[in-house]
This record gives sequence, structure tokens and C-alpha cells, in this order.
Amino acid sequence: MEKRQLLGMTREELERFVVDELGESKFRVKQISEWLARGAEIGGMTNLSARLRERMSEIAVANPVRILESHKSKLDETEKFLYALGDGNLIEGVVMRYHHGDTLCVSTQVGCRMGCAFCASTLDGRVRNLTAGEILGQVVAANGHIRAEDPERRVHNIVLMGSGEPLDNYDNVVKFLRLVNDPSGLNISLRNVSLSTCGLAPRMYDFADEGLPVTLSLSLHAPNDEIRQKIMPVAHAYPMDDVLAACRNYVEKTGRRVIFEYALIKNVNCETRHAEELARRLRGLQCHVNLIPLNDVKERNLEAPSKQEVAAFQRRLELKNISATVRREMGADIDGACGQLRRKALEKGAQG
Ligand code: SAH
Repeated sequence: MEKRQLLGMTREELERFVVDELGESKFRVKQISEWLARGAEIGGMTNLSARLRERMSEIAVANPVRILESHKSKLDETEKFLYALGDGNLIEGVVMRYHHGDTLCVSTQVGCRMGCAFCASTLDGRVRNLTAGEILGQVVAANGHIRAEDPERRVHNIVLMGSGEPLDNYDNVVKFLRLVNDPSGLNISLRNVSLSTCGLAPRMYDFADEGLPVTLSLSLHAPNDEIRQKIMPVAHAYPMDDVLAACRNYVEKTGRRVIFEYALIKNVNCETRHAEELARRLRGLQCHVNLIPLNDVKERNLEAPSKQEVAAFQRRLELKNISATVRREMGADIDGACGQLRRKALEKGAQG
């Protein structure tokens, strides 16, 4: 029988488990949720009786995620994690140190089924969705790891930009967002959370109605449908007009500007006319464009353009009054780009 994941339970679910199933008093619920937020294992919840810890351990785990490997960049302190899940699946994440605090990039699925041509996460398709507990578990595990090094540090910002398409695992992702924001749990402000999507338009409307002040990032990567369809299969299902309309709706409903991710790919989408067309399409939309020189993926034959081309593309957007920045590359020496560490581990035959 698969063990229950305490970390993924809402307060009500935890209460049902502790009071109704285990027959314990209600005050245990608060004790247990405090331990969970601090990253304790069931065996380490020392204000519970040994008997209770034993009973709980038989049927449940606190955190279904554990760090299997960590790799720290010598260049910029970026640290990459390979996590193992209860069923042996592997996922990865990365923590980046910024002046405004530590930012953790989390995965939402094992693999991905969106098929973007430049992305390592999708090469073997989607294995399965992550549970809310497994998404939250990454935050708790990473928090424990960085705090062990420096008690002042903690995960301050979260980006849902690891492996997987968050809106393809909608219910678990929304549950995770509510849990991570819970004041009696990790209490991370949703204003410090970004969700990145390849553009599942109908789900973007649903997400706008959740009332969560999350920043929406849209992986655009092209100025028109013709180019977008070549590198992102999802563009066949949801044309750019529909996706941009869903972005406008998000801005209206939440009052938050949308971030467009645009990976610059040599000979594909980085000429002056592409910048011009992009600026035209985004005109009037409250947004910012994040330009990302493509991270080469060895399995794919796509490369980044030169630094000069990247700078020229940015200048052209700015000239057309579209705010744009080039994303700083971090962790270049530790396979910082998503999906790469897991692939290496799978090739080596690593198992959780
Ligand atoms: N599925 C979601 C989130 C995961 S990917 C999405 O599509 O947005 C996070 C970001 O990294 C996306 O913008 C994705 O398009 C981008 N990305 C993936 N592979 C990349 C690569 N090789 N170089 C640069 N960006 C990449």
C-alpha cells in the first residue's frame, strides 16, 4: 500500500487523519503541522509518543521527497538538487541566490508531455503528475538543506519552472499553492511565486479565477503561430491570439503583469523582424519580456545566437516600448537548465 503524504494534506485532511483515523486528540494536529513545516520526519516528532510515531510511520510519510544529490556551482552559489520520490522516480530542482532572497525552481510532473523542441524535460514524455505533497516536499527539503548551511537562509521565492507543465497538473498545483501559502505552514507569500505555462489557454482562464496573486509567466518563444508551431506542439491546439487573450484576462482579473519567456534560438526566432512582430503583438498588454539565450540541449540540434544578436533583439523591443531583460545565466557549470541533471542520472542508471 502506498503511504499517505502528510505534507500534502490540508489542515482539514490532517485533522481527519489524526482525529478520525488515529483516534488522537485535536491538539496533535497543530503539533504535527509545526513539525511538517520544519521538515521533520515522523520519527523526529519528539513531543508525540513513541507508539503514535510508530503507528503513523507504518501508514504515512512526512515528506515524500528526499534530496539524493546536490551540486553547487562554483560560479554563483546556484545549487542543483536531484530528488528521489517514494516510488523511485527522480525529479530535479535548483535554488538560486539573489539579493532579494533564495529562489527555488520546482517541478510539477515527472517528465512532461508538451513536446517543446528545445526542452530536455519532455524527451521521454510524461511519466506521471506530482502530488501536492511532492511539490511542497521539494520546498521543505530544499529549505532544510540550505538552512543546515546557513540558518539565515530560507526559500523566499518559488518559480514553477522545473520539469512539467503546471497547468497540465492543475488540481495538485493549485492545492500546493494554497498549502505553501498557509500561515501555519511555510507561509510563503503568493506574490513571491511565479507559475510558468506553455499556454494551455482554457486552464489560464480557470487559474485567473482562483484568486491567487501568483505571477503568470507565459512561454511564448515566437512572434507568430508559424514559428511557434515549429518548436511548440501546444501551439497547434491554442493559437497565439487565444493565448494572448488569456493573458489579457489574467492581467484584468489579478492586476498583475504577465511575464513572457522568450528563448532565443539561432536561425529560428531572433531576427530584427521577429522582434518587430513580437512588439506589435504585445502592444498594449501589461507585460515584461524575459529573453533567455537558449541553453543548448545535447539531444537537440538547437543553439543560442551570439551575445550581439541577443542584445540587438532586446534593444529592438525596448525601442518599441516593450520592457525586456536578458536573463542572467546561472549555474552554467552544474547543468542548471531543467531536465538535464535527471537525464544524466537516468543515463547513469541512478535510482531513488
Ligand atoms: N511547462 C512550463 C514550465 C517549465 S519550463 C512552461 O512551458 O512554461 C520553464 C521555462 O524554461 C519555459 O519557459 C521553457 O520554455 C524554458 N526552457 C526549456 N528548455 C529550455 C532551453 N533549452 N533553453 C532555454 N529555455 C528553456
